[in-house]
Amino acid sequence: MEFYDLIVIGGGIIGLSSAYYAASAGKKTLLLEQGVPLHDLGGSSPGTRFFRVMHSEPNLVRLAEASYALWRQIEYETESEMISPQPLLFLGERASDKTVEGDFSIAHLTMNKLGVPYRELQSDQIQAEYSGFKKIPPNYVGLIQNNSGIIRVETCLTGIAKLARAKGATIVTSKKASIIPNGGNRDTYTVTTSSGDFQCREIVIAAGAWTNNVLSPLGVKLDLKIWQMTIGYFEVDSAQYRYPFWYEFGRKQGENTSLFYGFPASEEIEGCVKLSADFTFDYFDDVNSCTRKPCQKILGMIAQNARARFHGINVVPRFTKTCLYSMSPDYGMIVDRLPGYDRVAIFAGESGRGFKFAPILGRILCELAAGGESWCDISEFSIKRGKILLS
Ligand SMILES: Cc1cc2nc3c(=O)[nH]c(=O)nc-3n(C[C@H](O)[C@H](O)[C@H](O)COP(=O)(O)OP(=O)(O)OC[C@H]3O[C@@H](n4cnc5c(N)ncnc54)[C@H](O)[C@@H]3O)c2cc1C
Repeated sequence: MEFYDLIVIGGGIIGLSSAYYAASAGKKTLLLEQGVPLHDLGGSSPGTRFFRVMHSEPNLVRLAEASYALWRQIEYETESEMISPQPLLFLGERASDKTVEGDFSIAHLTMNKLGVPYRELQSDQIQAEYSGFKKIPPNYVGLIQNNSGIIRVETCLTGIAKLARAKGATIVTSKKASIIPNGGNRDTYTVTTSSGDFQCREIVIAAGAWTNNVLSPLGVKLDLKIWQMTIGYFEVDSAQYRYPFWYEFGRKQGENTSLFYGFPASEEIEGCVKLSADFTFDYFDDVNSCTRKPCQKILGMIAQNARARFHGINVVPRFTKTCLYSMSPDYGMIVDRLPGYDRVAIFAGESGRGFKFAPILGRILCELAAGGESWCDISEFSIKRGKILLS
């Protein structure tokens, strides 16, 4: 049986980053991914993501800033642009609701407290800055933060995989991995696949929506829900109008949150903006139950928001798709060692925000798997908080 210092289960952006930093540290590293390269079934499905430092939680701001420095280093080493700089506009009322993405007014305070530069705009100034905006409620304000950007998912995945291989990591795709419990032996672990078994001293689990399936042989279950998100691409008149990179903290509509976001025109599909809602009506316990069908109700709500906000938009989407978030009960990430398993590190409950943190989380997971401590404060990501550990 071949022996590795560290095995990573999951080849999304977090697993790839972990494999890269483990191999960089001289560890004999194996990454096992069940899907084909660049598959679209997990959280890291191809397309674009937000890179932003604007968050309500100070620790996430610091983590994003630390991560950005590592992204720049990775860009330098791969000679590619993974994050295209693009100012990000947060907009909403000053007195906002607490949401899955924090709170607009607290994000504002956090920027001030940490000295993160931003510009504040009144509603008429927002409209003047982005001609694509039709109607901004007069009680809205905007925060524009320049240290933001559009993450190119495919470039990141292929670039980090290339770097990991160059450092000596073995990356195997189309191979589902299972951990075989070795009874009381926690010195080495056996990981089995359809083409054989491997032994290792350390494991990083970064299995996204499949986390509970991977944990099941160890008798561990986490309180995670899978959110199936709907995304639409809408034709716009980008010759005439300028469309923003934006996130709207709308007030609750009855029981429904009203969080919408979008990318400027032609970032993924020529002539289209990509729009989505940061809420869903499609929740699942088991990834195998996900329908992968875009939700018509959400598409209707995105279209309604787009009709109210933008000039020159065709609110019948040209293309739609889904993508999965794995959510913890408090919407926070889980970055920790698995209780009872000193050399098994886990990332889960990525809550729709993990991509930007990939390099720093990859490093932290390697440190945890090696039995060490992270120099970043990860106490708020503890697996032991609340009632996340169901068994
Ligand atoms: C619609 C949407 C919008 C988002 N927007 C943003 C954003 O703007 N900014 C941001 O930073 N983040 C964003 N995110 C979140 C971000 O994309 C995810 O946090 C990140 O991609 C998760 O990466 P991961 O590696 O943890 O999981 P995944 O990418 O899901 O990777 C897990 C991998 O593990 C594999 N796997 C599972 N079980 C096994 C097994 N037994 N054996 C082998 N392989 C296995 C799976 O096949 C999968 O490839 C968004 C996510 C979605 C869905």
